[in-house]
Amino acid sequence: MSYDLVIKNGRIITAHTSYNADIAIQGEQIAAIGQGLSGQREIDASGKLVTPGAVDIHVHLEMPIGKFTSSDDFFTGTRAAAFGGTTAVVDFIERQPDETMLEALAARRALADPKVVIDYGLHMTIGPNDIAHLDEVPAVYEAGCGSFKLYMAYGLRLTDDQLLQALKAIGDVNGLPVVHAENWDVICALVAENLRNGRTTPHYHPLSRPALMEGEATGRVIDIATLVGTRLHIFHVTCDNTVQRIAAARARGRSVTGETCPQYLLMTQEAYDRPGVEGALPVCAPPIRYQDSQDALWRALGNGDLQIVTTDHCPFTRAEKETGIRANDFSQIPGGVPGIEMRYTAVYSQGVKRGLLTENQWVAACCTTPAQLAGFNRKGDILVGYDADLVIFDPDKEVTLSTDFLHENVDWTLYDGVQLQGWPKTTLSRGRVIVDDGEFVGERGDGRFIKRGFGD
Ligand SMILES: [Zn+2]
Repeated sequence: MSYDLVIKNGRIITAHTSYNADIAIQGEQIAAIGQGLSGQREIDASGKLVTPGAVDIHVHLEMPIGKFTSSDDFFTGTRAAAFGGTTAVVDFIERQPDETMLEALAARRALADPKVVIDYGLHMTIGPNDIAHLDEVPAVYEAGCGSFKLYMAYGLRLTDDQLLQALKAIGDVNGLPVVHAENWDVICALVAENLRNGRTTPHYHPLSRPALMEGEATGRVIDIATLVGTRLHIFHVTCDNTVQRIAAARARGRSVTGETCPQYLLMTQEAYDRPGVEGALPVCAPPIRYQDSQDALWRALGNGDLQIVTTDHCPFTRAEKETGIRANDFSQIPGGVPGIEMRYTAVYSQGVKRGLLTENQWVAACCTTPAQLAGFNRKGDILVGYDADLVIFDPDKEVTLSTDFLHENVDWTLYDGVQLQGWPKTTLSRGRVIVDDGEFVGERGDGRFIKRGFGD
């Protein structure tokens, strides 16, 4: 039999094993894995790794925050993701006061569907104004939003009683709650105290959001989820305090997972001390912390205390970041950093190449576990019948990150001049080559909204 496409002679890396084989693709799916397969079209992957497409379950594309909107839209953001080997992302929905949750889902899809170049899903945000709408949660789940975002910070934060109600509603449909865990009351007090005393530079951003209170909020929401009996995923873990809360819950048999992001794995808190707008660029929440935290995060990925790496990609331009510097108020700097393109290679280069992770752990953390966690039931692994979302990865290529090299729609990168080893040579989305040798050859709108769920 001759298949549509065969990727030949590659070394296949999955979350569990590594082996040499050909992969045959028929239509949009993996049809066979074996030796000596032939296709109408063949790609030679000798000397390359063949992995599942990477899955990033935490991105913010064209997301309005206050007076700004994150600068990557669903086209530029998913195209940059594809260059970096990511073939599925999960973004967010925030319901407007005059909408039902299903109407908000339809509106977000109307924005994304014509633009996305890779498949995507959406988390439904449940803010304080949504507590009166929790009866809509089953319909939202049925519509393919299997996961729900809960904030413990910002204007969308839920109080503990609201967390209890939201977790119960999500648990009733077997959905996945994903949580931004920080202690907002303490943060507000520390921000006000710092500003009152003239401590207005980005240096005081991390000092106003202590690691201790990130751990406290994480422990609190884990305990509330335990009371209700739901599972839980903790977003953007930055420090050992939080890792320990998650590890302790897992040791008790609780279904709790955690993620971290490249900014916490590659950068340190000193970045906030750079002069002028440079110190504002790394502002994100929770903040980037000291070297000991970075070391703890790598250790946790290696020993299984943390499960996945996402990006929390949320770019704002240099000029937008600068507004907080001009206002003399670090708390007015729009929070968020870009990273959607470099994540997969960053974890390979800084994890696998430094001997901190195995290549199988790399694929588990960036592809397989995020797909399973988010309910992408045919993605994140190389198996017959799965979507042919694949990356042909060159482990020897050396790249130097810069805004010229990257394809994100933003005029800076935290990683300017950072050298990494490895880069995707070819990215396939459902059997179609969409990036090849540094060229984008996909189509705007070819990505699909994927209904995510977790069985009964
Ligand atoms: Zn986020």
